Amino acid sequence: MNQLFPESESPTASAPCLFARVAVALPVDRSFHYRIPVALADSVVVGSRVRVRVSGRPVCGTVLALDRVADVARVLDVEGVFGAEARVAPEVIDLCRFVADRYGASLGETLESALPPPVRHGRGIRQVVVVQLAAPFADPKRARLEADVLLAKHEKQARLLRLLAEAGGGVREIDLLRRAQVGKSPLESLERRGLVARTRVDDPGDPAFLASPSARIPPPLPTSEQVAAVSAVELALESREHRGFLLFGITGSGKTEVYLRSLEEALKRGRRGIVLVPEISLTPQTVARFRGRFDRVAVLHSALAERDRLREWRRIASGAVDVVVGARSAIFAPLPDLGLVVVDEEHEPSFKQQNPPRYHAREVALERARRAGAVVVLGSATPSLESWAAASAGRLTLLRLRERVGGGALPETQVLDLSHMPFTKHASMLTDRLRAALEEVLRRGEQAILFLNRRGFARLSLCPGCKEAVQCPDCDVALVFHQRAERLICHLCGREQAPDARCAKCGKPGMRFLGFGTERVEQELRRNFPRARVARMDSDTTAAQGSHERILGAFGRGESDFLVGTQMIAKGLDFPRVTLVGIVSADTSLSVPDWRASERTFQLVAQVAGRAGRSARGGRVIVQTLHPQHPAITCAVRHDYEAFVAAELPLRAEANYPPFTQIVRILVSHADVDRTRGAAEKAKAKLAPMAGEFGVELLGPAPCPIERVRGRWRWQLLLKCREVKELTRVVAWARERVAQSAPVRVTLDVDPGSML
Ligand code: ADP
Ligand code: ZN
Repeated sequence: MNQLFPESESPTASAPCLFARVAVALPVDRSFHYRIPVALADSVVVGSRVRVRVSGRPVCGTVLALDRVADVARVLDVEGVFGAEARVAPEVIDLCRFVADRYGASLGETLESALPPPVRHGRGIRQVVVVQLAAPFADPKRARLEADVLLAKHEKQARLLRLLAEAGGGVREIDLLRRAQVGKSPLESLERRGLVARTRVDDPGDPAFLASPSARIPPPLPTSEQVAAVSAVELALESREHRGFLLFGITGSGKTEVYLRSLEEALKRGRRGIVLVPEISLTPQTVARFRGRFDRVAVLHSALAERDRLREWRRIASGAVDVVVGARSAIFAPLPDLGLVVVDEEHEPSFKQQNPPRYHAREVALERARRAGAVVVLGSATPSLESWAAASAGRLTLLRLRERVGGGALPETQVLDLSHMPFTKHASMLTDRLRAALEEVLRRGEQAILFLNRRGFARLSLCPGCKEAVQCPDCDVALVFHQRAERLICHLCGREQAPDARCAKCGKPGMRFLGFGTERVEQELRRNFPRARVARMDSDTTAAQGSHERILGAFGRGESDFLVGTQMIAKGLDFPRVTLVGIVSADTSLSVPDWRASERTFQLVAQVAGRAGRSARGGRVIVQTLHPQHPAITCAVRHDYEAFVAAELPLRAEANYPPFTQIVRILVSHADVDRTRGAAEKAKAKLAPMAGEFGVELLGPAPCPIERVRGRWRWQLLLKCREVKELTRVVAWARERVAQSAPVRVTLDVDPGSML
């Protein structure tokens, strides 16, 4: 029985409750009462997903409570209810309440985003026909004998029987017929003979996906640092009280092994675990490490087929899963008996959701664990300054892994000042030094990774006459030239146009393409190293499903020599033959007008550098930059996180930025610039009187660094709030005052991931 949905909540137990209070899937702050028709009385309980109407329009919602009286006279009916398997567990409703309050979203919207789309929309699992050997012939040996008998006259039936004997269990009819290359009638004959049975069941899904613990991976002998870290976690689990840890371990120090052993400890105590990883690193490689250790693993991420997501969700809720591995939204998984939450690469920006509810999965993880009395392990080689500050203040316990497993040294690093370097002819981003290093790699039959965090070919298309770059007509950025597509593309709104032969402003011919993207690096490499096999990985080459794995798989098997890519290649990759990492330019993230620019640059450079020298061959890293003295660069190349923190924290303190304050960004946008400014100033006037009372610093309004996106002008205000515990009140208060009044759009973003 599913313990998350106690039947005792059924409204028929005592006097009937006539009304359901429903949080609807809309950005409204309140919930509404709906009458429960008699026919649905038994199936509507707290947590049920229902279909109702708001202003005549059908909408989904979640039942928050059952009441005997409604708060208004005229009440509409609940029109439908989804199956029990779509119910939201009470603890997940509570967690969503916290998220909605903290991040200024509606509870209804938050509940929607806590459910994977098929569950959200109440879709069921398709029924399929499964074929298996009938009882007397279920022994594969017996089935093979029967197949031999049939072989002479009924070759197709024999073939089917053999396949079933091999499968050793039920097989989907469509898979079986496809594999045997036969039609339906031989199968029907087998059924008539009583050799096989066909049954309709819930689609068990893709057999490849289900292929569970393919190969057990025997656990390695832990290092003494790993033992110490796991013991600390074990002690916390034993106490059954909430504790948070920051596992600070350099790249290759074996953090995943600490997660695995900590999960084992949780499981030993009858508890279960959620592991959050950045979406981008949720590769088969990562998943295999967990599947290789635990039998009952579920995987949740947005690239899964709907059917698989639905099935995983149900397995989790039914208690059939011990470990959930997933991206951001897996923190809402209905896993009972939660004992441990791991957030791997906790500094990753992708843990922050970009649309409502704009939550940060790390913060939600800490909150869920606090409520469940569970342990949290946040892991990183380059912790976020927020987590570092929490550890310094004693809110998290610091665990360290200082050494690489097997004693491998961190790679030797060289910084090349681009402003002084001679460049190879034709290859304006490959310095002579980088080129020589690449040559060496090829000669030794090793591999290199080249990192540049910008896709496309050229950063801009410039007129030689008026020096104007071609801008996106709707956004405040230059269009990026993509050579293969032969298009100028806006990286903000996706708008495309053909490159003009002449300047649209002054009519002069000979437009020039300036600046570099990964596409151009790839071309330079091919031109400079005609024999080298070059692969590229960025969002242009990975649009198709499975392409991500294909490119990495080929590189892993040594089918390419050089891999060029954006931040997609910055983390998680573990390729022993990579002996050189070249950062083509470390400056793309450094010059961004955002208070996190230094931190992001440090993290990226340190993470990319960590891809080199992961075996006895050793490795080196070459960093090209125009800012060789910047602490983000100098500290990253020395692999010195603490030196970076020591340089960065005082700047944050001085400017009153996180982790010393909590930032709430209020973004106002409209198609007209004057109305945008007007609305932003009005918001300021409404917020100002109370700001002092709350002890909140109010900044702005000012135009955003990117002043126009998709045809809308953007202005922002910042609230800086000293105390986390004040945040919920400040958010509620600010939301009330700067409410939407279309067509002006106002969004509120707590702890924004970007200030652009
Ligand atoms: P990190 O996540 O800290 O970068 P990983 O967990 O990926 O490091 O570990 C790096 C490599 O070391 C992996 O191939 C892992 O299997 C291996 N490894 C981890 N712990 C041990 C150990 N105690 N003994 C031997 N190999 C280990
Ligand atoms: Zn645009």
